Amino acid sequence: MKKCYMCSSEAKTREHFPPKALFPKGANLQLWTVPSCINHNNKKSGDDQYFLTQIVMNMSREGNLARERFIESIAPHFEKSPKFREMIARNSKNVGPGKRAYLVDVSRMYSVMDGICHAIVFRKYGKNLPTQDFRIQHEFCNFVSDDTSRDKYVSNWIAQFDQLVAEHSWAMDADAADKISEEVYSYKIMAPAGLDASITIEHLFYGGFKVISLLTHKEVSASIRNALQIEL
Ligand SMILES: [Zn+2]
Repeated sequence: MKKCYMCSSEAKTREHFPPKALFPKGANLQLWTVPSCINHNNKKSGDDQYFLTQIVMNMSREGNLARERFIESIAPHFEKSPKFREMIARNSKNVGPGKRAYLVDVSRMYSVMDGICHAIVFRKYGKNLPTQDFRIQHEFCNFVSDDTSRDKYVSNWIAQFDQLVAEHSWAMDADAADKISEEVYSYKIMAPAGLDASITIEHLFYGGFKVISLLTHKEVSASIRNALQIEL
């Protein structure tokens, strides 16, 4: 029996990664696929659309791909579904001239990012991420919060992380992506001890929307052991 990339149920379908919804319609894609149960294949499509909307709104600039995607997929979706538009606009506020900040449903962003991380791990190691051993956390580098001291802390942390990545680029395993997917999505993974220790994945969407996923191994985070063998 083939197992689902997210759970141990039987996989009856295959799920595309990165999610198909992130890409332009009709693009000739060579996405990779992972085995999936029916539940984990259908469940996310609404979240994928939500995720794309947040990325494209954040990254949209005159003449870039994100703006194209906004015009091609998001604007028509807003037209067709006033409910969706209202949901996105709910509790938004002006934060400067021509600037508006939108409240983000973090759980929906997490659902998509969890799926991507599971798929990466499954593809790399040929087995499920042992979720009982890991705590998964995603940092959305482009988002701001209402708490400026938290934002300061996070941006410092990201700067330090970037430096670490730059210094240890040899330890990062970047996955070759085809041309279209590279423009839309690429990632680097740092997994020095495979599934036995913490894993860091840096994702880049639309050339600038960065998410850092920390898959922290519980055993390692709870206690550090020094396995010296001392002969007495
Ligand atoms: Zn499943």
